[in-house]
Amino acid sequence: MADKRIYLSSPTMHGEEQQFIKEAFDTNWVAPLGPNVNAFEQEMADYAGIAHASALSAGTAAIHLALKTLGIGEGDVVLVSSLTFSATCNPIVYEKATPVFIDSERDTWNMDPAALERAFEKYPDAKAVIVVHLYGTPAKLDEIMEICNRHQVPLIEDAAESLSSTYKGKHTGTFGRVGIYSFNGNKIITTSGGGMLVSEDEEITKKATFLATQARDPARHYQHSHIGYNYRMSNITAGIGRGQLLHLEEHKALKKAIYSQYKKAFVDILEITLNPMNPDGDANCWLSCMTIAKGCSVTPDMIMDALEKENIESRPIWKPMHLQPVFEGYDFITATGSKLDGQDGESVSQDIFGRGLCLPSDIKNTPEDMEQIIRIVRKCFGR
Ligand SMILES: *Cc1c(COP(=O)(O)O)cnc(C)c1O
Repeated sequence: MADKRIYLSSPTMHGEEQQFIKEAFDTNWVAPLGPNVNAFEQEMADYAGIAHASALSAGTAAIHLALKTLGIGEGDVVLVSSLTFSATCNPIVYEKATPVFIDSERDTWNMDPAALERAFEKYPDAKAVIVVHLYGTPAKLDEIMEICNRHQVPLIEDAAESLSSTYKGKHTGTFGRVGIYSFNGNKIITTSGGGMLVSEDEEITKKATFLATQARDPARHYQHSHIGYNYRMSNITAGIGRGQLLHLEEHKALKKAIYSQYKKAFVDILEITLNPMNPDGDANCWLSCMTIAKGCSVTPDMIMDALEKENIESRPIWKPMHLQPVFEGYDFITATGSKLDGQDGESVSQDIFGRGLCLPSDIKNTPEDMEQIIRIVRKCFGR
């Protein structure tokens, strides 16, 4: 087995990060507040083209505070993409609200507007929608926004995977009432761990920052009229983020080049389809993924095993939330049926999960690494 491991998506540092960290040390701003935190918020807001931002300890914390600031609480129904990472929907359950999972469409793999429409028919009192831009591909935002607006329900965008992706020229994360980004270690830029909540509404970001800093009322003594959290980003990690942000567009270009290279390399293998792009968007191609044609004898496991044998990391598609044991009791809505009505059948998200995998998409892959990955995948198909 090769000594060098090829990763799915690992951190890529540049140098400026250390400068910002050094400044923080030199000025002793080693705290969950400070000049890097304020500057990172401003720089992220400027980059994404949105008015306000609140820097937090994780993307998950940002989703949690998005729900809190919108007043989501016990018993409220939240309509959420099923094909995603569990961090999207765990915070709904933190608040004792009720997730209802929505199936994907095939064009972008994201929330199916037709299924969302059906979900509103069944749950007319739903209080919020959380849409995910999976693997960096923007969802059908026009359709989803139209439905949310018609039902007067706020949209939360989980743009954890899609920072730098745009839809009709505007950044994902800036369409909903609240948007969230993640800077976890495997995301397109990282602070080792961190997140950001963004909104056009300053009331929302102010409230998020307030709740993230233990909800201290303005008083000399420690006075509290809300339950608070310790969710603020530290001035050290914000320094890493400022350095990374300088290279975000460069990372995006490299991720897109990886996707293009896979696309070209597998063009003659009709059994392989890469994850879809949205023609109305410009995706960051955070992870390049593929599905295998129905009826083909090659399975995702066979490809993942062949790669792992050469010390190359790959991963299944996210297992849909409606198939997770922990979320078993919750409803799932497809374009044609509903789990609780006993007629969900085979859903689009389950089908993608069953036939798909994520390919190594690390921007530090050398041309030789890419050739090796491609050779191994092609061999699985007898090419
Ligand atoms: C990574 C991720 C999150 C969570 O972000 P953290 O910063 O790891 O808490 C949420 N949603 C999706 C879709 C993600 O991929």
